[in-house]
Amino acid sequence: MLYTRSSQLFAEAEKVIPGGVNSPVRAFKAVGGTPIFVKSAKGAYMYDEDGNRLIDYINSWGPMILGHAFEPVVQAVIEKAKLGTSFGMPTELETQIAALAVSMVPNIDKIRFVNSGTEACMSAVRLARGFTKRDKIIKFAGCYHGHSDSFLIQAGSGAITFGTPNSPGVTAGTAKDTLLARYNDLENVAALIEANENQIAAIIVEPVAGNMGCIPPNKGFLEGLCQLCTDNGILLIFDEVMTGFRLAAGGVQELFNINADIVCFGKVIGGGLPVGAFAARAEIMNYLAPLGPVYQAGTLSGNPLAMAAGLAMLQSLDSDRAIFKRLEEKTAYLAEGMEKVLKANNVVFTINRIGSMVSVHFDAAPVVDFQSAAKGDNETFKKFFHGLLQEGIYIAPSAYETWFITDALTYDDLDFTIQAVDKVSKTF
Ligand SMILES: *Cc1c(COP(=O)(O)O)cnc(C)c1O
Repeated sequence: MLYTRSSQLFAEAEKVIPGGVNSPVRAFKAVGGTPIFVKSAKGAYMYDEDGNRLIDYINSWGPMILGHAFEPVVQAVIEKAKLGTSFGMPTELETQIAALAVSMVPNIDKIRFVNSGTEACMSAVRLARGFTKRDKIIKFAGCYHGHSDSFLIQAGSGAITFGTPNSPGVTAGTAKDTLLARYNDLENVAALIEANENQIAAIIVEPVAGNMGCIPPNKGFLEGLCQLCTDNGILLIFDEVMTGFRLAAGGVQELFNINADIVCFGKVIGGGLPVGAFAARAEIMNYLAPLGPVYQAGTLSGNPLAMAAGLAMLQSLDSDRAIFKRLEEKTAYLAEGMEKVLKANNVVFTINRIGSMVSVHFDAAPVVDFQSAAKGDNETFKKFFHGLLQEGIYIAPSAYETWFITDALTYDDLDFTIQAVDKVSKTF
């Protein structure tokens, strides 16, 4: 496959956009080459500027769980756009999506909508600090909570790919209030809490990690965090920006039957438009302005186009709960197929998966935290990535990313992908 026009467009973009992209993970810095420019997408496929069709395993990094240009979402956006695209005043639509989200997710009474996952996590931490009157937070190495200053301390995803876990521009004052723990290591968390008695406002965690590849929590890890928080007056924040409305209608809280204090959303909740949200029980949410003292705002928050897209998406998921099982079956089929051919070709690998999230790591040891995720062989990953691209399959251009399975993928697509993995891994 040729990507000539994409390369030309990238050269033009580089002149006026830093690195040619508006979000670093889109660049091919970790794998070499130049990014693909997309023209359109429908269902499981993207069509690029060179006229190639790509089977998409990124799906806008998660939101397109029902496939690209999903008809109910597209229709909802078109209809709403005709009525005006932003008012900066309340609309009934906002109450409708809020009520639906609250009914789908366990353990939340109220939800506030923002414009991105970053905003959701940033606001959740401010709320936790205001509520507990404490300053410090614990985050886990390799977990990504958006690009707000407090989180750019060994963040996953693009922040690792580009070797800037501690970004310049984040002040020492901010960094000192973020304590770093190892994922899946309760003793480490307990020690941090003990050393910072009565100072920790919140523990923020991806309850299933998805920004260092896909890393499910060990048995007892989330329960243990919950207990440590309860015992020490700390709020537990589940960052479900990736997992919310994906691993179950009610996210990881429902999947593992564990209650967090504050939950963050993004990605799927916006149906492909820029949306984030954070939610909690009323006692905590009432701490927000205008009811309470913690300030949080947004000119375009609750934007009618974004809310229409999100509502159409949540309604589709809510009315067909079998989708989550269907997605898991497709993911299992793909993972088992890939395992078989990789083994047959004597490739050293580990595949992690849960629900509709899966990641391939080129290392034999179990991948349970950032340290083990970082051991993957990046040279092999580069060959894997570019090999699949030549076969018309698009996975994220970084070894630290999860693949997202969409309902639009057919078993023929999955078979085609497994055959491509077989072909490509013979060349390692
Ligand atoms: C994507 C992501 C974010 C950031 O969301 P943006 O919409 O990109 O700001 C935060 N947390 C997690 C777990 C994510 O996967």
